[in-house]
Amino acid sequence: MKRREFLKKAGVGAAAAVTASAVNAPYVIAQKKYNWKMVTTWPPNLPVLQTGAVRFAERVKEATEGRINIQVFAGGELVPPLNTFDAVSDGTVECGSGAAYYWAGKTPACQWFAAVPFGLNAQGNNAWFYSGGGLKLWEEVYAPFNVIPRPQGNTGVQMGGWFRKEMNSLDDYKGLKMRIPGLGGKVVAAAGGTVVLLPGGEIFTSLERGVIDATEWVGPMHDLRMGFYKAADYYYYPGWHEPGTTLEVMFNKKAYESLPKDLQAILDAVAMETNMWSLSEFEAGNGAALQELITKHKVDLKRFPEDLLAGLRKLAQEVLEEEANKDPMARKVHDAFKKFKAQVGVWGSVSEKAYYDVIADEYKLKM
Ligand code: CA
Repeated sequence: MKRREFLKKAGVGAAAAVTASAVNAPYVIAQKKYNWKMVTTWPPNLPVLQTGAVRFAERVKEATEGRINIQVFAGGELVPPLNTFDAVSDGTVECGSGAAYYWAGKTPACQWFAAVPFGLNAQGNNAWFYSGGGLKLWEEVYAPFNVIPRPQGNTGVQMGGWFRKEMNSLDDYKGLKMRIPGLGGKVVAAAGGTVVLLPGGEIFTSLERGVIDATEWVGPMHDLRMGFYKAADYYYYPGWHEPGTTLEVMFNKKAYESLPKDLQAILDAVAMETNMWSLSEFEAGNGAALQELITKHKVDLKRFPEDLLAGLRKLAQEVLEEEANKDPMARKVHDAFKKFKAQVGVWGSVSEKAYYDVIADEYKLKM
């Protein structure tokens, strides 16, 4: 009776520690709850990208038994999509999800953490982040903005895009109006193309009406959903401009550091898990969607000619050097990336590539 009176006096929550010690039961300590907001750069319900952010929040809630509750807002629901980085940086929200190339205007060095034309694939990027010092560099790049990044997903190799005309040589880029963002866009511009930036919702009609001659998007799963096969005759591969685009989750530094260590570890672990989940979803979904595009919609799948790719690759090297020269951090990241790529590339040529070559006849396109 005496103890019950004491508990009543102590109140709930405010004197939780005292209460707990009074009843000598440490497991009933009322643990602090964190109600966070996440903003993303993605439209609502965009498969794997937005649904991956939502899944991240759900898994965090599950793993922390509700100690961290993240409310997710798609692009535009709380802040405009491209204000995601700022909102995390200034503490408007505790976390965000997007892709690092969107922040090139803040710091050019961030582009290497999303997609590098003719760069690493998903496996290579993950190796760089987790085992080759890439994530440390990424943290260094975001540190001045009070943002902590984590890889949260990977699209795998994207598709080259949808074209209304055949692409036979590098010259065919001259005057070509193409929707292609990021460093890939800079390469297309260097080849003489006109890069057009369009919101996702305007791409289909622009392509259908010939306002643009070509567009890239993601891979078969997302491209099929956009219906591009109804607007352009040629579907080119491979996606040289985005060979393994990394998606990110980022935390406001103060918010992240205010968490106890176990919760920080859970955020990191769930980010890593979501990264694996995302790539798996892309691989499985793209495989199925490609079959549907070929067999049901009779899409004309084309490989970019070798000399066209060689020309783009040369231009990409020049574009990357130019970007790297923009500031010392970009130079540092570019050099580190290049060094790592060379190192795993030699290994890749005797492992992944050699293996794929051996079983190539099993994977021939069945049109
Ligand atoms: Ca893309």
